[in-house]
Amino acid sequence: MTQPRTARIALNRPLRRLFDYSIPDDLELTPGQRVKVPFGRQILTGLVVETGVQPPEGIALKPVQAALEPWPALPDGTFRLLTWASDYYQHPLGECLFTALPPALRRGRPAALKPDEQWQTAANDAALPANAHRQIALFNTIKTAPGITTSALVQSGYSRAQIRSLEQKELIQQSITTNVQPLIPEAALPAPVLSDAQQKAAGDLPENTQQFSASLLFGITGSGKTELYLHYLKTRLQHDEQALVLVPEINLTPQTVARFRRYFGNRIQVWHSALNDGERLSTWLKIRNGEPVILIGTRSAVLLPFTHLRTIIVDEEHDSSYKQGEGFRYSGRDVAVYRAHLNQCPVILGSATPSLESWHNASQGKYNLARLEQRAGNAKPPELTLLDIRSRPLEAGLARPALTAIKETLDRGEQALVFVNRRGFAPVMMCFDCGHMEECPRCDTRLTYHRRDRAMRCHHCDFQTAASHTCPKCKSENFKPVGQGTERTEETLAEHFPDTPIVRVDRDSTQRKGSIQAILKKVNSGEPCILVGTQMLAKGHDFPNVTLVTVVNADGGLFSVDFRAPEQMVQTLLQVSGRAGRGDKPGKVLIQTCHSDHPLLNALCQGNYPAIADQLLAERESGLLPPFRAMAILRAEADTMQNSLQLLDSLKPMASTPGVEVWGPLPAVIARKADRHRAQLILVSDHRKQLNRLLTYLCQYLDQTKLPSNTKWMVDVDPQETG
Ligand code: ADP
Ligand code: ZN
Ligand code: ZN
Repeated sequence: MTQPRTARIALNRPLRRLFDYSIPDDLELTPGQRVKVPFGRQILTGLVVETGVQPPEGIALKPVQAALEPWPALPDGTFRLLTWASDYYQHPLGECLFTALPPALRRGRPAALKPDEQWQTAANDAALPANAHRQIALFNTIKTAPGITTSALVQSGYSRAQIRSLEQKELIQQSITTNVQPLIPEAALPAPVLSDAQQKAAGDLPENTQQFSASLLFGITGSGKTELYLHYLKTRLQHDEQALVLVPEINLTPQTVARFRRYFGNRIQVWHSALNDGERLSTWLKIRNGEPVILIGTRSAVLLPFTHLRTIIVDEEHDSSYKQGEGFRYSGRDVAVYRAHLNQCPVILGSATPSLESWHNASQGKYNLARLEQRAGNAKPPELTLLDIRSRPLEAGLARPALTAIKETLDRGEQALVFVNRRGFAPVMMCFDCGHMEECPRCDTRLTYHRRDRAMRCHHCDFQTAASHTCPKCKSENFKPVGQGTERTEETLAEHFPDTPIVRVDRDSTQRKGSIQAILKKVNSGEPCILVGTQMLAKGHDFPNVTLVTVVNADGGLFSVDFRAPEQMVQTLLQVSGRAGRGDKPGKVLIQTCHSDHPLLNALCQGNYPAIADQLLAERESGLLPPFRAMAILRAEADTMQNSLQLLDSLKPMASTPGVEVWGPLPAVIARKADRHRAQLILVSDHRKQLNRLLTYLCQYLDQTKLPSNTKWMVDVDPQETG
C-alpha cells in the first residue's frame, strides 16, 4: 500500500497539537522542512513533523500551499534533539521547533541573505552645501573606504536616507558586490602552551571526538580553563568540523571572544540576545550550511542546526542563566549533554564551582572528572577571611577593617572590588516612627529605592513611583533607606575615596550599548579604582590588578526556603572571590557576615569546593532532593489565590500515583507578582520516566479542561527556583 500523501505540521503556537495537510503532487516534503499552510483565514509558516500519516476518515485535508525551500531548515539531528526536549520539558512541539529558527525564518522570510550593497564615490568632490555636514562626512567615509557596505555605514551612525540621497545626487554609486566573506580556516596562533597542571587536566579529557563522552572540568578560578578549551579545540577539532562553546552571558565577557578569535580567526561566530535579525540569519545560515564555525553563544545556541558538530563545551556550567525561566523552560547545559549523546561527540562542562548535579554525575563515574587545582602563571588562590559585623559600626554597610583594607589596596596602586547583591540605593524605605515600609502595590515585595532618579522601583514587575521624603502613612520625616544597594555603596565609597574612580557594574549601569566595554577598558588599564557591583562582576572576568574583594553581606542564602540557595550562595561567593589575585600579586577576600560561626561560611574560607559539594550532596540525599530524585513543579496563577490553589488541588489526586510524591499545593514565596496570585505543586520521583509520563498525562488533561478565565498553568521540569 502506498503511503498517503499527507503531512503533519507544527505551528509556532502554544498548542499541544499538530495539524494534518495533504501534499500536492508536485511537492516532496521531509521532516524539518518549512512550509506555508492555510490556517483559518491566514497563511502560516509551519514545520513538517511527519509525512505519510493516515488521515482521519471523512475529513478532507487542505493542501500544503508551498515549501519555503527544498531542504529541511532543521536537519535530522537538530529535529530529534528538539522533539526530545519537547517531551522532556513538556513544552508544545511547535514552539520548541521554532526556537531553533532565527526570527526572520519564523516569519516565513527566505533563507538567504539580502546582498548588502557596497558603495564607492562617483565624483571627486562632494558638491554639497557647506552646512550638509553629515552628507559630506558620509561622502568622505565612502571615499576613504571604497566598497564599504550599507550595514557598516548604518552601524557607524549614517542613515539609509542619507545614503539614498547621495546616490540620487550621483555622488556615490554601488560597487561590484563580492558579498559573503569567506571564513579564514585557521588564524595565526598555534595551540597555547599549557602549564604542567593544565597538561595533566588536558590528558584527562577524551581524545576521541567521534563518540559520546561527558567530562566535568573542575578548575579553580584563574586556573586557565579557557586555555584548556582553546588547546582542546586546536588539537582535536578538524578544519571542516563545527564546535559549540556555551557561555552564560556573552555581553559581559567580550574578552573571551577576543581570546578565541586570536586562535581561530573568523571561524569564531557569536550568538546572543543583542544580535539583530540580519546577524542572526547570517550566523544561522553558516551553521546550517555546515561551515566550520566555532560558535560562542548563550543558552539558545545549543538548539541551532549544526550539521558537523564535533565538540560541545559548556563554560561556567553551574550558572543559573542556562535555565530558561519562562515558556520553553529548558536547561542549555542539560540539552548540551543530550545533544552530545545524540550526536556521538564529547561534551566538556567546566566550572570552578560545579553544579551539584554535575558533581554528583562525576562522583558516580557517569562523567569523566578532570581537575585543575592550581592557578595559571604565578597567581595563587586568594585568602578568604570572615569579618563579623554584629555590633560593629558600619558606614553604609562597610566595616572599618574593610574600609582600611580598601585604602591599603589603593595605596599599593591596586584595584578593589566590592560585591553587593542588590542594585539600587537601598532595598527598603522604612519609617522609624510608625514602622511603615514601602511595598509594591502589585506584588508581595518591598520597593527598592533608586536615589539617582529619585524613584521607588519593584524588581519583580515594572511598577515605579516617585520617592517621597516623608512617610506616606504618618507623614513623619523620619523616613529612611534601610540596607545596602550598589548605588549607596558607590556613594559612600566616593565620599571616602574622593580621588579614586569608582566603577559601578549592575543592570542599571550597563543598560546602554557599549557601556560594559567602556567599564572593562577602564578596569583593564590597571589604574587604581574601586569596582562596585552585583553578581555581574562575579562572572568569568579576568582583572589581573584586582587584589581585594569585599563581600558586603554574605548572609542572604543562609536561611532561604529554596533548597538550592546554599549551593547558589557558595557558588556566587567563590566566583566573586575568584576575581581577586589573578595576576602576579596575591589576592585577599573579606566576607562580612552576622554569622561568622556558620559551618558553611567557614568551609567556604577553606576554599575547598569539593568538600562543600560533598557535604551539600549528603544533605540533598537525606532530604530526598535532586539530584537524587527527579523534580518538576506545576505552577498556577490566577486573579485570586483561591483559584490558583483550587486548580492545583484538583490535580493532586491525579498526580498522587505510586512512585511519585506530591508536595503542596502552596502559595509561592512571592505569592502575588504583578497582581497575579501564584501557587505551586511540587512533584518528586525516583523514576524520571514515570514522572515524565505523569506530566504528559497531566498536561493533556489540563489542555483539554476548561479553566476559569485568566487562570494559567505551567510546568517546570528540573526547576532552578522552587520558591
Ligand atoms: P579561568 O577561566 O579558569 O578562571 P582563565 O582561563 O581566565 O581562568 O585564565 C586566567 C589567567 O591565566 C588568564 O589571564 C590567562 O591568560 C592566564 N593563563 C592561563 N593559562 C596560562 C598559561 N598556560 N600560561 C600563562 N598564563 C596562562
Ligand atoms: Zn510612618
Ligand atoms: Zn511589583
